[in-house]
Amino acid sequence: MTDCLFCKIVAREIPADIILETERALAFRDINPQAPTHVLVVPKSHHKNAAALAQADDGLADDVLKACHDVALQEGVSDSGYRVVFNTGLGAGQTVFHVHAHVLGGRSLTWPPG
Ligand code: IMP
Repeated sequence: MTDCLFCKIVAREIPADIILETERALAFRDINPQAPTHVLVVPKSHHKNAAALAQADDGLADDVLKACHDVALQEGVSDSGYRVVFNTGLGAGQTVFHVHAHVLGGRSLTWPPG
C-alpha cells in the first residue's frame, strides 16, 4: 500500500530501529516507547487491523504471534512477563492502520490498561 507508514518501514523507505525480521514479519522499536521494551511487530503484507489479519487465513497471524514471542526472548522479557496488544479500531486507540502488535515489557504492567 503506497500511503501506509508501516508499509514504508517494511520497504525501507522510512528508517526504523529494526530488531527482527522473518519471511513474513518485521519487528522494530516504537518511536514513543511506553516501557523499556516496546517493539512493534507487523506482517510485511498490508492488513488494516487484527480482525483483517485473523481473516487472512494463511497462517500469517501465527507468524506474527511467533515473532512476538521471539522478540520477547531476544529482549530478555520472556520470563519476567510481557504484554502483546493489538489496538483494533479508532475506539481502541489504533492510530496506524497497518496491523501491529505492541510487545511491552521490562517493567511492572498494571491492569486494566487505560
Ligand atoms: P496504535 O496507536 O496502536 O496504532 O500504535 C501506533 C504506534 O506506532 C504508536 O505507539 C506510535 O508511537 C508508533 N509509531 C508511529 N510512527 C512510528 C515510526 O515511524 N516508527 C516506529 N513507531 C512509530
